Amino acid sequence: MTLTLDDVTLTYPDGDGRVVALDAVTLDVPAGSLTAVVGPSGSGKSSLLAVAATLVTPERGRVVVDGADTASLSRAGKAALRRERIGIVFQQPNLLPALTAAEQLQVMAHLSGRSAAQVRERAVELLDTVGLADQAGRRPHQLSGGQRQRVNIARALMNEPSVLLVDEPTSALDHERGAGVLDLLVTLTRARGTATVLVTHDHTHLDRMDRTVSMADGRLTVPVG
Ligand code: ADP
Ligand code: MG
Repeated sequence: MTLTLDDVTLTYPDGDGRVVALDAVTLDVPAGSLTAVVGPSGSGKSSLLAVAATLVTPERGRVVVDGADTASLSRAGKAALRRERIGIVFQQPNLLPALTAAEQLQVMAHLSGRSAAQVRERAVELLDTVGLADQAGRRPHQLSGGQRQRVNIARALMNEPSVLLVDEPTSALDHERGAGVLDLLVTLTRARGTATVLVTHDHTHLDRMDRTVSMADGRLTVPVG
């Protein structure tokens, strides 16, 4: 139940040449631990998450999720892996305006073989876990920014992922609400045993993470000690 990136290199076309988004990146994230990724804009943080999520295929290196080398998977295999094993939380919650908080979660489980009642029960339980038990029937416009981001996180956990990938979840939140969301991610990582990667520009809570790594120009630096 881990995530491993092994010597991953990713480039994008850039004019006549190519820009190196990830330069021989190696990262091992054990189950139940949270690795924070910091670094300036354009340093490759989102690219690292995209590769880990199997949304982008690197030209070199391996991405291993739960022991499975993702290079051997077909497109459909990768889609299934994402659905079943990987929870993704983007910067903006992208909730569907017409759906209640509980329904945002329920639509994630359409292929899981569970009954509608089981799915509903799980959605309500997860909303309770993120502190929104009494908001299950509310639509996005009735929720605060912090509450919407909590729905976003709960939605990513709906299919019990082993890997949780989170990109700058607090960028639209004030300091206090941001701190609450980071706290929640640490708690969920421990309780659910996910291998969590958190991209953040918020340096005030890094002491709560298991480890912090830095990106610069596509290269990842692991601090010594
Ligand atoms: P960060 O998340 O740290 O801001 P990114 O991973 O988004 O960094 O970007 C890393 C580098 O790759 C940057 O130079 C960026 O311009 C480039 N890049 C990212 N996505 C694309 C893309 N889809 N096409 C071309 N270049 C890209
Ligand atoms: Mg980014």
